[in-house]
Amino acid sequence: MSKKSKQQLENNKLNKRLRHAVGDAINDFNMIENGDKIMVCLSGGKDSYALLDILRQLQASAPIDFELVAVNLDQKQPGFPEHILPEYLESIGVPYRIVEEDTYSIVKRVIEEGKTTCSLCSRLRRGVLYRVAKELGCTKIALGHHRDDILQTMFLNMFYGGKLKAMPPKLVSDNGEHIVIRPLAYVKEKDLERYAELKQFPIIPCNLCGSQPNLQRQVIKEMLQDWDKRFPGRIESMFSALQNVVPSHLADTELFDFTGLVRGQTLKHGGDTAFDSETVPARFSDGLSENDSEITLSPPTPKKVINILASKPKTA
Ligand code: SF4
Repeated sequence: MSKKSKQQLENNKLNKRLRHAVGDAINDFNMIENGDKIMVCLSGGKDSYALLDILRQLQASAPIDFELVAVNLDQKQPGFPEHILPEYLESIGVPYRIVEEDTYSIVKRVIEEGKTTCSLCSRLRRGVLYRVAKELGCTKIALGHHRDDILQTMFLNMFYGGKLKAMPPKLVSDNGEHIVIRPLAYVKEKDLERYAELKQFPIIPCNLCGSQPNLQRQVIKEMLQDWDKRFPGRIESMFSALQNVVPSHLADTELFDFTGLVRGQTLKHGGDTAFDSETVPARFSDGLSENDSEITLSPPTPKKVINILASKPKTA
């Protein structure tokens, strides 16, 4: 096989992997429903370009109908190349709105020189995006956070916030009016980097505001990258852990009724055998012994979800 066709094969595999990862996340969390109008937040970074691109592919083939509208918030950072996103969006034919709000000046005015500006900046951005979603009549807001962002957030919260908390793939916005979705929740950042190169997205650098990068997040990112090199599979295992939570083996009295434990309760998988085995299986589901037990929280009522990876029904 020639080098060119080998490369083509790799590219196709990458595209397929991304479509499947996004489709699986959408299905698992029922992120998109028939008739949804989804506002895709586009920053000009690799993640949001890939998000829009993959959602468009799924939109073309899915057995449900949904609309996409790309929204970029021009925060008036010095040197922001205003023409790039409109040109790109017109070239691919996606409806879009560019919102101009000078949050940059507000942040500069309010935050002392040298202090991290990101938290105020993102709060302001969030407020504007919620307002725009309402104006556009969008039912969902899609953000481009990926699997590695989710894990980094989990470690940030553990190390600095004293909380076992990551970043949810789907949530209700803080004002209660919108459903926010993260369809890239299962996607590796490395795949997004490769995809951005492959598709030649016109990336807008994210340091135009002149803010210091969030150093704590950077340190955690490097820690995870180092683990990924030295212990292959660890990142995947940690992400699986987010989907296999055993409340009776944590210590949150609000999540599990430790005080109400009585002898003779019927317990389900995952509970304590008093003397846990030292070996931790890579996948929880494979590693539980028969007498492991857990009292689970009530599972959510299953909802019928249409598989977004299925094909559109043929019209006669
Ligand atoms: S890096 Fe700059 S633009 Fe991005 S959130 Fe921080 S302050 Fe805002």
